[in-house]
Amino acid sequence: MELLPRPENRHQAALLGLLRDNGRLSRAELGDRVGLSRSKVALELDRLTDLGLVEMPGLARSRGGRRSHLVSLGSGLRFVGIDIGATSVDVAITDGELRILAHTADEIDIRQGPVAVLQHAVSLVEKLRADGSAPQLHGIGVGVPGPVSQREGAPVFPPIMPGWNHFPVRDTLSARLGAPVLVDNDVNIMALGELHAGTARSVRDFLFVKVGTGIGCGIVVHGEVYRGVGGCAGDIGHIAVDESGPTCTCGNTGCLEAYFGGAALARDAEAAARSGRSDVLAERLRATGRLTARDVGEAAAAGDPAAVALIRDGGARLGAALATLVSFFNPAMVVIGGGVAGLGHRLLAEIRSVVYRRSLPLATGNLPIVLSELGGTAGVVGAARFVSESAFSTLAEADPRPRRTPGSVP
Ligand SMILES: [Zn+2]
Repeated sequence: MELLPRPENRHQAALLGLLRDNGRLSRAELGDRVGLSRSKVALELDRLTDLGLVEMPGLARSRGGRRSHLVSLGSGLRFVGIDIGATSVDVAITDGELRILAHTADEIDIRQGPVAVLQHAVSLVEKLRADGSAPQLHGIGVGVPGPVSQREGAPVFPPIMPGWNHFPVRDTLSARLGAPVLVDNDVNIMALGELHAGTARSVRDFLFVKVGTGIGCGIVVHGEVYRGVGGCAGDIGHIAVDESGPTCTCGNTGCLEAYFGGAALARDAEAAARSGRSDVLAERLRATGRLTARDVGEAAAAGDPAAVALIRDGGARLGAALATLVSFFNPAMVVIGGGVAGLGHRLLAEIRSVVYRRSLPLATGNLPIVLSELGGTAGVVGAARFVSESAFSTLAEADPRPRRTPGSVP
């Protein structure tokens, strides 16, 4: 793999992060923000220009006195975000500011195993690069729907990913695509996408709750994802709601996810259809042979009382769990995303009413609970953001892989 240029010190790293998150800035503004003198910031920027990491496209408007040079990230910087879900894979190429330049998606089945799914992802990346717009990749971020060991760059005991346990996703993709790769849980990746480009742009401490087939929570503290000691922080789908409840995919009983989430909702909707409690759902089940969260949402929108009750009960369960988390974490915002968030404002209203009722007023006084506005792109943008954090940091602080022996690093 070609050695990519990277910042040589923490000042250069901070400058790159500012340019990624704010777009072009003047040299004077950059100096103010990192607290460096004009001459020192000019020196660091000259060095970054030599490395091809920044460009100076012209002069900024005058703030009185001499006009300052405008600075932007190198126009040739390219990141790739790969968001692998249970049934789909999304791939995007971004520039240094993580704007999506090209995006494609395809259906997959995660149970086909890592060899087939990763090959599919690689072919999508190659398809996007075929026009020559991304000759060199500066990093590839990958989200997978299961817990990930950062050290191994591999999923570890992922419940819905048979065949993926300890499979070297990072090293496989890195070898195939010739660029550094970082892998994380999809929920953490989506939280980073919300931080970079979503509603949570304005805050530094928030919870991102993904309600898809299962339920997970990304925890962002001071603008960084908190992963916990083993990398499984935020795995709220398996919080015990009621020990005598239904059996969960994890083998325990009464987990939050066994009550609510895409899989539980489909199960309960089919039960409602079969028991005669919902004519609308029964008709849909007859037509398609199975029901999904989307069917529940559409039946509720048509006024079906059983579907409305399913969303209300699920929202109340999730809301009760979130009320506990809000009291514990005191976030500035809660963002709800994932496929089931498509149930929309009926779900949101139920979650809000429970959280606001059950959490302390001090914790909820200014707490927005909102639906994600990013739709399908939170994962790919967040994956690109994740790997950019490594690419835009010095070698000493960047790499979660085992270090080379001290002294061998220049
Ligand atoms: Zn469970």
